[in-house]
Amino acid sequence: MTIVIACFIKPAFDMYLLYSRLDSEGLTAEAKILKKETQTDSSFLEIFSSHAVNNLIRVEFEDLRGNAHESVLGVSRLFYDKYDVGDVIQVLYLRDDPNRCKAAAYIENTKYISKFVIICGAIAWLLFVLLPGIVGTLLISRADNREEIKLEISEMKCPECCLPMQEGYVPLISGINWRCKGESVGLLTVFSVLPGTVWWNPFNRPKLHGFHCPRCKIILFKYRK
Ligand SMILES: [Zn+2]
Repeated sequence: MTIVIACFIKPAFDMYLLYSRLDSEGLTAEAKILKKETQTDSSFLEIFSSHAVNNLIRVEFEDLRGNAHESVLGVSRLFYDKYDVGDVIQVLYLRDDPNRCKAAAYIENTKYISKFVIICGAIAWLLFVLLPGIVGTLLISRADNREEIKLEISEMKCPECCLPMQEGYVPLISGINWRCKGESVGLLTVFSVLPGTVWWNPFNRPKLHGFHCPRCKIILFKYRK
């Protein structure tokens, strides 16, 4: 989800940076329209709607040093129809990179639209990624407080050394396998384990109540109520 939102925000962010720079430090020039053309964008969008059409105008302008530059600008249908080849429009360009030039009429609006897209993307990320992440982590961490499987024994003596064992529990993730004496191991999967020993429910982690003898390295536990 983060990647999807990032793919959605990135072009808007780049656009915002460029238009902000043009707005604050861009130089104005009179540009002559050399050519007009429309391009059909045969992207995946055509699956859902009619072909997206790009209205492009090729312009020529001189920078402050008198060097000529040509640039292709994407414009709206209205703008495209309003001007003819040979007409002059105003453009803004970057002093250090005159090829990064845009029609002056679009600077303000595009800056605000791209800013709006970035804010929408940030809100979507907050709602669909960050918030569920925080809530999920909180719920999962609280899952440890759920009622655990309990042995009805308060004290246990180690079957080997006969000393009292420590009471505790075994937290589990992927289950415990058990085979009877002489039985072949077979395929070990989460479906062949003892019931109740796999952490299927994110909000209810299995915790097996039991007793431990650290001297003899023995653990006795109950795996189901
Ligand atoms: Zn022992």
